[in-house]
Amino acid sequence: MTNVDLSHISGKLFIGGAFVEGRGERIDVLNPARGEVIGQIAATTAEEIDSAVESARAAFRTWSRVPAKTRSNALHRLGDLIAADAHRMAQIMTSEQGKPLNEAKGEILKLAEACHFYGEEAVRVFGEIVPNDQNGYQSQVIREPIGVVGAITPWNYPAELVGWKLCASLAAGCTILIKPAELTPFTALAIAEKVKEAGILDGVVSVLTGKGSIVGQALVEHPGVDKIAFTGSSAVGLHIQRSCPSVKRLSLELGGNCPLIVTKSADIDAAVKGATRRSFRNMGQICIAINRIYVAREIYDTFLDKFAKAADALTIGDGLNNPAADIGSMASADPLAKTRDHLADASDKGARVIAGGRAPEGAGFENGFFFRPTIVADCTHEMKVMSEETFGPLVGVAPFDTLEEAAALANDTPYGLASYVFARDLQEIYQLSAELDYGNVAINNVDAGIMNAPYGGRKQSGIGYEHGREGLLEYFNFKHVRLFHGVGA
Ligand code: NAP
Ligand code: MG
Repeated sequence: MTNVDLSHISGKLFIGGAFVEGRGERIDVLNPARGEVIGQIAATTAEEIDSAVESARAAFRTWSRVPAKTRSNALHRLGDLIAADAHRMAQIMTSEQGKPLNEAKGEILKLAEACHFYGEEAVRVFGEIVPNDQNGYQSQVIREPIGVVGAITPWNYPAELVGWKLCASLAAGCTILIKPAELTPFTALAIAEKVKEAGILDGVVSVLTGKGSIVGQALVEHPGVDKIAFTGSSAVGLHIQRSCPSVKRLSLELGGNCPLIVTKSADIDAAVKGATRRSFRNMGQICIAINRIYVAREIYDTFLDKFAKAADALTIGDGLNNPAADIGSMASADPLAKTRDHLADASDKGARVIAGGRAPEGAGFENGFFFRPTIVADCTHEMKVMSEETFGPLVGVAPFDTLEEAAALANDTPYGLASYVFARDLQEIYQLSAELDYGNVAINNVDAGIMNAPYGGRKQSGIGYEHGREGLLEYFNFKHVRLFHGVGA
């Protein structure tokens, strides 16, 4: 059985460029596939938070002024170091999060890719000269880094969701204090080890572990933090917006309740493949997971039949021992309980379970948070599976008769993160992509997010963007310099 040594980072904080023994109380971290304690985090104390903010403010004065090329080089070095150590970093992630090792490694490599993308963007932060109302003036619109960023992140993608904020901050010239999820702190500390190896200026990056309601909230309220970059639930995002005691820049990447529409012109096999991947990957614990599927009535039964077979074929296992399993355990008891609750609610209200519906049995599954990928058919919007974010390996399916009905059902949600369509008829494709009220629409594929296009939600799914040029802009203030030079006046 593979085990991972975390003794070098257990109980540590990363402040001012050094790993320090945290002075606060210890909180156990579990391997969710085995139910075993793998290490402890220290709850960052108020004094430690103050000292981290102070070091970030001091570092900002230097880091914001070094040439962009220096920051770019640092990001490229960081990307190389992360890629070179992807296997060990992936083991750390799997041991705290539960996803299969190969998936974790893929995520680490995407973090490395993000470092290189933002390394390239760092030297392409342009300003503008804009026309004036009189001769003799020049208006320069320039970008200046916002300052100290507080990043608060969830447990489902412990490397990428830290990484996008980290890389954008580094590229822009901001400094960053990272409060990782309580369930997955060690991936963030492993990233901090790479920051140190890359020789990034002390104080530019800190990692502060502990409870969101205490350490996260302290960053939200701290007068020395200029921006909060948050990824997590809509409830906590709204709480942050409401509880922020001063005017502060906020980016909020929040929950989703993402629909897939499969029209009668769709390639059914491609739609089944996409639905299987995007409903169940990472045990459905993805903000852009497919939660609900609307299928044209003409192909409803065929789709259900193939989809149930594909879900039943997915392999599940302990992610460290079975690196190539399709899915691992869930990250904790909470999302598993919510999945069971949504399943029971759907069954009570008349849905048919056509795949899964239970935990896998046998050796290796006794102590972990495992559940079979589950499909419920004939769903209605009275069921939680269709109207709330499950964040688990459960998806609801319903038939539709007209495209207008499908679009209306898809938009019948307070969320607006990602949506998916499988169709081959061009008119259907255009109609749906115009009508879907979502920040992302993926058509005939299920990968809505790529590194160089903006990624963000609407409505209760958040404000602001990550990825792409737009994501980097979230870390800048604009400054208008109106200069009178007198030439031509
Ligand atoms: P969560 O409960 O909202 O927690 C997210 C982070 O906020 C954690 O670090 C948490 O700390 C912290 N936190 C909790 N209360 C806080 C407070 N009062 N002040 C400041 N920080 C606080 O979300 P989660 O359960 O970890 O993640 C699942 C959710 O994230 C889902 O809704 C999912 O859709 C969303 N998500 C969105 C995206 C996106 O890009 N839009 C991506 C991934 C996930 P603790 O760990 O200590 O609780
Ligand atoms: Mg939570």
